[in-house]
Amino acid sequence: MKRTLVIAPGPTANGDLHLGHLAGPFLAADVCTRYARSTGQDVLFGTGVHFTQNYIVTTARRLGVPPEELRVRSAAQVEDTLAAVGIDPDGFVRFDDRYVKTVRHFFERLHGTGKLRLRAVKFPYAPHTGAYLTDAYVRGGCPVCLAEGCAGLCENCGHWIASADLIAPRSTLDPDGPVELREQQVLVLPLEEHREALVEYFAGRAATMRPRLAQMIEEILSRPLPDYPVTLPISWGIPAPFPEVAGQVIYADAETIAWSMHCTALAAERRGAVLGADDELWFSDAGTQVAYFFGSDAGFAFAVVGAAMLLALGGYTLPEHFVTNEFYELDHDKFSTSRGHVVTGRELAAEVPRDLVRFYLAATGPDFQRTNFNRAALEHVTGTRLVRPWNRVVDKVAAWTGRGPLPVSERSRAAAGLMLERFAAAYDVRRFSLTAVAFTLSEQLARLDRWEVGPGDAGDFCHEVEVFLRCAAPVLIDLAGQALPERTVPARPDTVQVTPVRLPRLAETGS
Ligand SMILES: [Zn+2]
Repeated sequence: MKRTLVIAPGPTANGDLHLGHLAGPFLAADVCTRYARSTGQDVLFGTGVHFTQNYIVTTARRLGVPPEELRVRSAAQVEDTLAAVGIDPDGFVRFDDRYVKTVRHFFERLHGTGKLRLRAVKFPYAPHTGAYLTDAYVRGGCPVCLAEGCAGLCENCGHWIASADLIAPRSTLDPDGPVELREQQVLVLPLEEHREALVEYFAGRAATMRPRLAQMIEEILSRPLPDYPVTLPISWGIPAPFPEVAGQVIYADAETIAWSMHCTALAAERRGAVLGADDELWFSDAGTQVAYFFGSDAGFAFAVVGAAMLLALGGYTLPEHFVTNEFYELDHDKFSTSRGHVVTGRELAAEVPRDLVRFYLAATGPDFQRTNFNRAALEHVTGTRLVRPWNRVVDKVAAWTGRGPLPVSERSRAAAGLMLERFAAAYDVRRFSLTAVAFTLSEQLARLDRWEVGPGDAGDFCHEVEVFLRCAAPVLIDLAGQALPERTVPARPDTVQVTPVRLPRLAETGS
């Protein structure tokens, strides 16, 4: 059986995680990992923070703090927020010397393949400051979808936009300053040279990519593929170790694979492995498969450029699964720090038991399209589909405690087997879906809630409640932690008798 490397790429270290981040990749990666582990699969989960994008510089300027301070503070907030909602990665990427070394080493090897090219590329340039304006430093219209935004990955259409291609570019930090285009020699990875291999690779992923990513990939491959920059003529970032581009930095959005390799190495080490190098788990003979969880607007950098870099290097396994998500909104508006809105997972988990937070985020998660968070809906949905039905089930089990052991019928073992199959279908990484997990959970709980238990089937009922709880454990981590001595999911139900035990109740949100 292959070891699965679950990766939720780190957010830019320019603030805390909001609920949109959590309901998207992070909760999904955590739930997927917990389920896989409970069925005996070998799985590692890595995430962290990404420290080198120049969004950190522009946000820091707005907040009036040094960017180095902002990124360290943000990393601590992200770790706290993940812990507050019970998202428990094995590895967490921080900015340190080892990360810098991994990135430099990765690009030295890529450079050594001879597949990077030195090209004259046009960039917006601010003549009065002498600064090249890339990514977060420049705003304008997207030449693909016309949305207003920065250069780089367009969060609206998902295409990668070269800084010089923005319509009517202007400086983010100095919006009234003049901007002209100026050429500079940088190192690029010409993606067009890898077209054939990319087409074949994505054809192999077609069966499991979600529709939005599949459409984006189709669009991207239907037009000329860009020369993707590997170095940029700016000062924020990891210095590029190449004399022909002296003084330049590695492009932050080219670090995707180096970041991912580092992240999985940290995860393996935390679980006791001793690795010779950060990329060891990615060797094509390492017996691993990579499953990414990210917002579909990150698809270009991680899926397309990532695959092209791995193909250029050779000898590595290519990612097997991309579990993407769309935007999650707050009261039908973009998440923001506007007053009166609970927006971070930490704030919400301080008021609402985290099992309820996890269930509601799963039930409303933006798996396939934009979805919405609403506090009143959280109370209603968790109350009617989870807390009250579960507490009625607890009361029914309590009526039989101290009367065991009770027999379990063949019919009940068969029913439990079907329940295991339904949950497995929702949790399986190939078709993983948080909303399908939450739906299965509430449907199975409703069935147990409707059950009128009598002396003839009390053993069956208690047995199916226990199997249900094992299946729900990746979402309801605290409930399962209190109720179950161990949280494995059986391959096939073979229980012949049960001794009913008192089960913990769930608390309502109470506000
Ligand atoms: Zn766009």
